[in-house]
Amino acid sequence: MMRPLLPPATIGVIGGGQLGMMTIREAHRMGFRSIVWDPDPECPAARLADTLLTAPFSDPSAAHKLAESSNVVTYEFESIDPGMVELVENTRPVFPGSRILRIARHRRLEKEALQKAGFPVVPFAIAGTTNELREATKQIGFPVVVKTTTAGYDGKGQAVLENEADLTSFCSEGKDVPEWIVEQFLPLLVEVSVIAVRGHDGAVTAFPVIENEHRENILHLSRIPARITDALRAEAGKLAISAITHFDIVGILCVEMFVTKNGTLLVNELAPRPHNSGHFSLDASTMSQFEALIRTIGGLPVQKPRPLGPCAMVNILGKHLKHLDLVKLQKIPETKIHLYGKKRIEPKRKMGHVTILGASEEEVGKKVEQIQELIGEKSPASRSERRHSFSIQ
Ligand code: ADP
Ligand code: MG
Repeated sequence: MMRPLLPPATIGVIGGGQLGMMTIREAHRMGFRSIVWDPDPECPAARLADTLLTAPFSDPSAAHKLAESSNVVTYEFESIDPGMVELVENTRPVFPGSRILRIARHRRLEKEALQKAGFPVVPFAIAGTTNELREATKQIGFPVVVKTTTAGYDGKGQAVLENEADLTSFCSEGKDVPEWIVEQFLPLLVEVSVIAVRGHDGAVTAFPVIENEHRENILHLSRIPARITDALRAEAGKLAISAITHFDIVGILCVEMFVTKNGTLLVNELAPRPHNSGHFSLDASTMSQFEALIRTIGGLPVQKPRPLGPCAMVNILGKHLKHLDLVKLQKIPETKIHLYGKKRIEPKRKMGHVTILGASEEEVGKKVEQIQELIGEKSPASRSERRHSFSIQ
């Protein structure tokens, strides 16, 4: 087992977006130094990193440099080439390592691994050609959601097909994708996530179950506690802990789950890194997901995080910024605004978030509504919006 990592050791982070930025902010608070690898010299973490390694993610010399300059390495996103992570691993420990990365970044490998291990997942089939897509759709039955097996996030690379006509127009668009996963498009009661935490010694714990509302496939709102039964909450926590243990992960693992209309819990996705739904933990928990990550990868003792009370988190996207009166927002008591300092504003780009605390779930709910009004987010997204969401980036 690794000796505990103590300051002024250096934490290396692959990716300098907001997740990397929040990770090193917590690392600095705990006395550690940081080196961040990102191709963008103006990435959110650039303002904080002790050292910024500005190089494309495909540059092996950057992987060597990161390894040489760090005591332990982690990553903030899954679309990194696992081969690059292996290069780092040849010199330095990376937690979570390249093994879970290979699985979590590939929707087929992820679903197959989950299914093989006995985790409940949505019925799915794989297709490599439009003929296979037709076959897969027949097997699963409409409505289906078609997803590219790699490079998708925030609903990118996904389309919902409700009927034969949708399928025909989807196939006629001549998309050049090597592999699709076709999933049954389920009517959901609610979506939840659990962030599980696991140390070098195999000790596990988890954050409370988070209830998530997506709009246009992007996380819009998270609430803690999740408004599901105690039994489902316990089951969700167990599933997340079983998953982090099964995949032998040191670090944190966010398990996204569906609660179907008939009350069944299914595992949707795995994210072996800090997760947007866990941002509440910075302001409303005895330990944040970022501290949990630093502690676990550094071989430090991990404690069970306890939420400080009912809370919520609302994401601020580029399209919200034009509505947002920051002064008005900060008049709402017990809210904390986080802005990531991104220069390029795009309608669906995550620019920041707000954490909302309150004495009761009802009070938090009222403040959430006030914030939604301030950012121009009122009516829930309709299911049909998903049809137009296919874009491979
Ligand atoms: P990503 O988060 O990587 O974009 P997901 O697979 O988590 O991809 O899909 C994004 C969102 O789309 C989910 O959070 C959920 O709201 C919806 N969704 C995805 N797959 C299904 C499904 N099979 N049935 C119902 N809703 C789905
Ligand atoms: Mg997801």
